[in-house]
Amino acid sequence: MEINNKTAKLLRKDFPIFKHNSNLIYLDNAATSQKPQQVIDIIKDFYEKGYANIQRGVYKLGEKATELYLNSKESVAKFIGADAKEIIFTKNATESLNFLSYTLPSILKKNRKEIVLTEMEHLSNLIPWQQLAKRNKMKLKFIKLKKDSYELDLEDMKKKITKNTAIVSLIHVSNSLGTINPVKEIIKYAKLKGAITVLDAAQSVPHMKVNVKDLGCDFLAFSGHKIIGPTGIGVLYGRMALLEKLSPFMFGGGAAKSANFNQICWADIPARFEAGTQNIAGAIGLGKAIKYIQKIGIENIEKWEKKLTAYALSKLKEIPKIKIYNSTKNSSGIISFNLEKIHPHDVASLLDSEGVVIRTGRHCNMLLMKQIGIGGTCRMSLYFYNTFEDIDALILALKKIVKKFE
Ligand code: PMP
Repeated sequence: MEINNKTAKLLRKDFPIFKHNSNLIYLDNAATSQKPQQVIDIIKDFYEKGYANIQRGVYKLGEKATELYLNSKESVAKFIGADAKEIIFTKNATESLNFLSYTLPSILKKNRKEIVLTEMEHLSNLIPWQQLAKRNKMKLKFIKLKKDSYELDLEDMKKKITKNTAIVSLIHVSNSLGTINPVKEIIKYAKLKGAITVLDAAQSVPHMKVNVKDLGCDFLAFSGHKIIGPTGIGVLYGRMALLEKLSPFMFGGGAAKSANFNQICWADIPARFEAGTQNIAGAIGLGKAIKYIQKIGIENIEKWEKKLTAYALSKLKEIPKIKIYNSTKNSSGIISFNLEKIHPHDVASLLDSEGVVIRTGRHCNMLLMKQIGIGGTCRMSLYFYNTFEDIDALILALKKIVKKFE
């Protein structure tokens, strides 16, 4: 289904938040996305009509719940080109990345003591590795950002990834700058050097076609809530050959096939990595969200967001005294900007009074903000239910703010 301004407006009707907040201009989709009725309904239906624990009971209700949970996993797997056994449900992208920081050390080669990240990382893909480096006496290295284009410096990448690199973990799409990183190229280089590769796909999977086999990454993380799914459900993809070598990160019920007082026989993959009762309703909601996205077509979403982004960039450039931090070559629907001499928090709260919702601050990117030499930005971020009118409303409100501060 091709999206244009008219169909975007129709799709928006599926999202009850806009019925209950009729003047809401929601441009904070990088923080979290809104939920369609279909996702809300399936969660409600599950609790009302079909709720039971999974992979335990031999009664029909439990079997049906298990089927729904596993079907969701199939949907997620298909969506990113993986096998369902390679999908581990977590709480969010942050937990997925923490999982790796605790489990990967057991399979790292002793002589490889470096972890390579980029200067663009979100704290969720920085702190877990920083703490691992501390625990295991490893060293962090950062691929530099080109400050003129807000893109990664690929020459620097080749200097940083070496035969000493154990792990390369990088952000696919910058949550502050919108830059779409050439991850396929970086992963290829990292593999050539024998490193394990991890992709923080929190800002890419909801907005563009991502195929783990095509990208060649070993692991990939994203969150359900940014792809119109519920909160509390995240995804960790792992390449089977590596998952087979990993030990579980959490221990408990469901992770064991058999146990005695001293020994344990792990359950099959991925159950051994999902100890305890899972967020069953969350998983089912995420499955529905993926189905909804697939019905529209992720390529169509990507195309529409590109049109909206181009429109937003051209309109933002009309605002006097604006500084836009955006890679013009390769950017997603995330645009950061600042208005001269007006604090980003002031801009956001004045926009809010006009009904326009954006995010301000450092966006969990302290390192990046430091590199650019600023304290924070205003960030607008789009999704497929946004329209040209949303952008017009933002521009009108920004013009009013600039006038106010003249
Ligand atoms: N990585 C990136 C690039 C993100 O934008 C975010 C969310 N802002 C995260 C990781 C963490 O996501 P979550 O809070 O859902 O774990």
